[in-house]
Amino acid sequence: MTSEREWRKIAKTQLALSGLPTVNEMEYRPYLTILFNLSLAKFGHSDYAKINIGILQAEVQCFTEQNRGSSHQPSLLWYALALLNDYLNQRKSNPFMGTVMDCGSCGASCFYHEESNRYSCCMCEASAEAGANRLPRAIPVIHSIRIERVRLHKRLDDLYVTSSERFKFYSHIASYLKQPLEHTHIGQVCSAEDVEAWDKAITNIEQKIERFKGV
Ligand SMILES: [Zn+2]
Repeated sequence: MTSEREWRKIAKTQLALSGLPTVNEMEYRPYLTILFNLSLAKFGHSDYAKINIGILQAEVQCFTEQNRGSSHQPSLLWYALALLNDYLNQRKSNPFMGTVMDCGSCGASCFYHEESNRYSCCMCEASAEAGANRLPRAIPVIHSIRIERVRLHKRLDDLYVTSSERFKFYSHIASYLKQPLEHTHIGQVCSAEDVEAWDKAITNIEQKIERFKGV
């Protein structure tokens, strides 16, 4: 039996063995968790040394057809599967070749551009910088929203000192916005309504801090 933790560590190990950047290895981990769960459901065990990659591929195919999330998520899941397959076969993995993202401003497709290392919309001026190994970091949006994201980041950065405070504040924002913590990311702020909601959530934290000081 291999634990979920061991599956999640494969990404970092395999990226390092392949000479690929590991700085954003946490971004790969949720996809290894999906593979872990698919393995448990299909094979009744999670021992990656004993799984049949062909059958797991078919499971990933079903999963991506049933769970239509953001357009880039299936490609990252397929890449995570390739990392696992290469890891089991003790060979180097290829870089991630980029994906297609949904524009956060107009909904059109955004493509990766090597020269700027950004995902840019084919219909409007929206864009977002890519992370290491061409991984999406934020949903592409128009310039005015990118400015608001920087301002929201600054508002939050001014409030916390330690990483545990940071975690606490993001957890608070997640519950305030009634959304899962893994989606509570300033890179997901796409509209004026999102900006307003985040401003309110941060103001709420500031008020709580003030009240705490007043005791
Ligand atoms: Zn657009």
